[in-house]
Amino acid sequence: MVDLKGQYEAIKDQVNASIQEVIDTTTFINGPEVHAFQKNLEEYLGVKHVIPCANGTDALQIAMMGLDLKPGDEVITADFTFAATVEVIALLHLTPVLVDVNPYNFNIDTEAIRKAITPKTKAIVPVHLFGQVANMAEIMAIAEEHNLYVIEDNAQGIGANYLQADGSKAKTGTIGHVGTTSFFPSKNLGCYGDGGAIFTNDDALAHTLRGIVNHGMYERYHHDVVGVNSRLDSMQAAVLRAKLPLLDSYNNARRDAARKYTAAFAGQKNIITPMVCDSCDCHVFHQYTLVIKNANRDELVKHLQANDIPCGVYYPIPLHSQKAYKDDRYNEADFPVTNQLVKECISLPMHTELDDEQIKFITSAIIEFVNR
Ligand SMILES: *Cc1c(COP(=O)(O)O)cnc(C)c1O
Repeated sequence: MVDLKGQYEAIKDQVNASIQEVIDTTTFINGPEVHAFQKNLEEYLGVKHVIPCANGTDALQIAMMGLDLKPGDEVITADFTFAATVEVIALLHLTPVLVDVNPYNFNIDTEAIRKAITPKTKAIVPVHLFGQVANMAEIMAIAEEHNLYVIEDNAQGIGANYLQADGSKAKTGTIGHVGTTSFFPSKNLGCYGDGGAIFTNDDALAHTLRGIVNHGMYERYHHDVVGVNSRLDSMQAAVLRAKLPLLDSYNNARRDAARKYTAAFAGQKNIITPMVCDSCDCHVFHQYTLVIKNANRDELVKHLQANDIPCGVYYPIPLHSQKAYKDDRYNEADFPVTNQLVKECISLPMHTELDDEQIKFITSAIIEFVNR
């Protein structure tokens, strides 16, 4: 599904030198690499504050801890996403409210958000799923109307641009009150272990978050709030600092591969390819995900496996049907899109090193199967 080795080969000398420097200077925790990467990322995203942390799940949790949310407050998020998004809501004794996604870009459905709002609703968590921007203009409008926080889960969307009403572009993760990301190795900007970050333009919130990641300390051994220990370590920061200047080229390589996949599937009525807008940089293709009609998706998975073609099903079970997140408030009729997608979606290999021959091999195997 990914080719981390091929990507490493191209930046090997630089990454090795940076890691060696961390070892030589023994600045393993909070070393200069962490601060430098933070500054570089702030500049790249055009955001005032980046708060590095240990992983993307922590980033979400810490972002929510930093907002003024109380047990029982309702947080609306998408039914079709990775479990981390809903897990941290539940862990903080907030009430997750899962809503359906739309069939065009698999992102949270804004009408469903409106319907789910109650007097207890305090926040919305859009996920830029598979690397495609959610409908942020509408989500921000709903949030403003109902006085809600917006926390963008940008773990899959780093580097994507959102075209705003005034014609300017903003990076995903910097549009809501707070945004989060993950540097898990297979993400679009991946390190060589775990890593994550939180973004915000709000000075006061940034200050709060910097304390929370460090045991709630704003002054050494003075613990003002309940915090956690969540750090991006210096070696991971060194890797990320070397890779950040390449992120746009990595995302372009993903878009190129996506265009080739989509071109190969042209005219296949049982293969629905991902929707992209013309300018196309609102999608960074963390995943390239098809919807397969009139064929058995699980049989297709087996067919690809038999041909040594990796593939993934993200995600096979709607969150509202997971044991941990079941709730009497949910009604199956409210999740038609997610319930369908979990049966029909399939993600193809997607990374920066895909070549034409591989794409031809993969697409031919799929076309052959759906036309059987
Ligand atoms: C990967 C991911 C996370 C969690 O990131 P980790 O670094 O693995 O904790 C959260 N949300 C989404 C949508 C993700 O894809």
